[in-house]
Amino acid sequence: AINEKLQAGVELHQHAQPEVRFRFTGEEELECRIKGKVLKGVEGYYNPLAPGDIVYIELDPHHPGRALITELVERTTAFTRFNQKGMAPQLLASNVDLLLCVTTPAAPPFRPRFLDRVLVQAEQAQIPAIIIFNKWDLQKDDYDVNERLEDYRRIGYRVLPVSAKTGEGLEELRALLTRRLSVMVGQSGVGKSSLINQLAPHAALKVGALCEKYERGSHTTTMSRLIQLEGSAESGYIIDTPGVRRLMPYGVGPENVALYFREFAPLIGQCTYGLSCSHRIEPGCKIMEAVAAGVIHEDRYESFLRLKDELEAL
Ligand code: GDP
Repeated sequence: AINEKLQAGVELHQHAQPEVRFRFTGEEELECRIKGKVLKGVEGYYNPLAPGDIVYIELDPHHPGRALITELVERTTAFTRFNQKGMAPQLLASNVDLLLCVTTPAAPPFRPRFLDRVLVQAEQAQIPAIIIFNKWDLQKDDYDVNERLEDYRRIGYRVLPVSAKTGEGLEELRALLTRRLSVMVGQSGVGKSSLINQLAPHAALKVGALCEKYERGSHTTTMSRLIQLEGSAESGYIIDTPGVRRLMPYGVGPENVALYFREFAPLIGQCTYGLSCSHRIEPGCKIMEAVAAGVIHEDRYESFLRLKDELEAL
């Protein structure tokens, strides 16, 4: 058998083990199964592999177009989603070097709680994150939204307003994606499919009607896809993740969540009670002082409190 190293892992066709099947895009497309029952190094996740994973495969000499996955190359990064206690975390993308958090000023309305959770997960996974503000054609002049965007910039996140509809900002976005493996995360309806259709027209994703997306019941889609952007491999790759409604950061606990709010992190050690400060009631809490002084935006503090509460309740 020939041993080949391929990047990809594109679609998870079935979730039941051990008959997990993956399609790989490389020079040619191959349908792959994991050799044996388990793959070393993938324990603990709901799905053993995700788009972006690099694996060794063994071509099946008897069946052209088929192969067996024999080994996983150690991941540099893993972007994970965690649904509820008792459930294994789901791996959404591996080895990415950029995370695009797609959000909108309207339709659906701007949701800072969700955005902050994605940013917490990105900080935890040590993946650089950029905020993509899609549907910029709809509501450029909303004072509150603009004020929030400025604050994300102030604390060091790049914010890129774009419009999949008018094309605004897409050149800048393309430039950012060049020679990178990026992952796109966002709630349903923010326009992820529309953006990918602009960036990779050959991938032709279905753009859903907005109302249909809102009305959809519990979200069960779990597929992420790896898509090559238009042009050559130099243009980069993007991983599209299922639209998520709720996100609980994985690998984050109530005791350390503040560390992943990047403007909070440098202040924590200066609190009177240091790392054991709850940042809720303690005298001499530098986080609360910074909120009072306007150095930490109260809305970020609100996201922090809610996330901490939820993590405590788990
Ligand atoms: P997804 O669920 O994130 O993949 O979102 P879709 O790409 O399916 O888009 C949801 C809806 O928003 C569709 O009706 C799109 O036509 C619309 N949409 C997407 N991008 C834009 C945009 O930049 N401006 C406007 N006005 N509408 C957009």
